[in-house]
Amino acid sequence: MIRLETITLREIRLPLRQPFVSSAGRVEVRRCVLTELVTDRGVAAWGECVALEDPSYLPETLDSAWHALERWICPLLLGARFQEPREVSELLEQKIRGNRMARAAVEMPCWVLEAVDQEQSLAALLGGERSRVATGVALGLAGSVQETVARVQQAIAEGYQRIKLKIAPGMDFDLISAVRRAVGPEVRLTVDANGAYTLESAAALQRLDALGLEMIEQPLSWEDLACHAELQGQLETPLCLDESVTSVERARRMVELGSATILNLKAGRVGGLAPAVEIHDLCRKHGIPLWCGGMLESGIGRAYNVALASLPGFTLPGDLSPSARYWHRDVVTPPWTMDSEGWVQVPRHQPGLGVEVDRDYVEDLTTRKRVLRR
Ligand code: MG
Repeated sequence: MIRLETITLREIRLPLRQPFVSSAGRVEVRRCVLTELVTDRGVAAWGECVALEDPSYLPETLDSAWHALERWICPLLLGARFQEPREVSELLEQKIRGNRMARAAVEMPCWVLEAVDQEQSLAALLGGERSRVATGVALGLAGSVQETVARVQQAIAEGYQRIKLKIAPGMDFDLISAVRRAVGPEVRLTVDANGAYTLESAAALQRLDALGLEMIEQPLSWEDLACHAELQGQLETPLCLDESVTSVERARRMVELGSATILNLKAGRVGGLAPAVEIHDLCRKHGIPLWCGGMLESGIGRAYNVALASLPGFTLPGDLSPSARYWHRDVVTPPWTMDSEGWVQVPRHQPGLGVEVDRDYVEDLTTRKRVLRR
């Protein structure tokens, strides 16, 4: 039984070690919305909203998520009783359209409350089987081809099992072929276009078939599923979807249409862990491999990603970089680490999330806070 007494919303500003540069711009400080749920029995669980500052990935933003949480989502949950976390997801699905990143920020910690109640790890509660997960890295845009090659070589030396690079029209074949030449045929390379191409400009993508990429991620618009299926018919390289799959329903359509043969699954994008596990089961049934992408989360969001990536359908390396890659100091203890062969351990031996939140540090970083009560 879950009955929430309070939900605390916080915004923190977490300084990055190095600016992260994408087509959307340059981020030096990650603004994160954190949630803390406390039950009527005094049990607490933290969550994190994956929304970015701007609507460059999906329409939701950090500020729109804050508003939806404060105005509609938290009041809905604070008035209700739930036998199990799946009911939280069902209620949110019934009452709140869209706003899935905001919904996930409170749905996901309900699974931690359940895990603590059952005295098992979040990974075990979700059906995770792995004790360690394979890790790749997504590299932001660099200034030049030489600089990109150097950063790829550095990441390989650090042990990452797969390297993902961002591409865009005019910055694709020459860049990626230079990287392929430099690193050799064995290194697992993928590219992510974040919807920058159209079917008309996709001829450039056919050239990538010669470069032995593991996948091309999200080449076409986030709103599209049908054109991706058409494009897959023109390419040998497997397509992977990310921002096009925002729900269980969209995942079903992806499978029916054949829009992609790989899925980057992020629980925060689809409304939480209940829909994420449902999509996992669907993809597994249809032989679609999964991996878990990142949204520049703090160590709290990372904990959920690692637990999810321990499920059996996640057969490709995820973007689960250690804390030290992004942060001078993470908000959790112990911080996330990766070994020299690119493995991250799944905390399976303690109940709940598997990391402690450094409350004093979070308090220092907090720039706004709102406590909502039943
Ligand atoms: Mg992506």
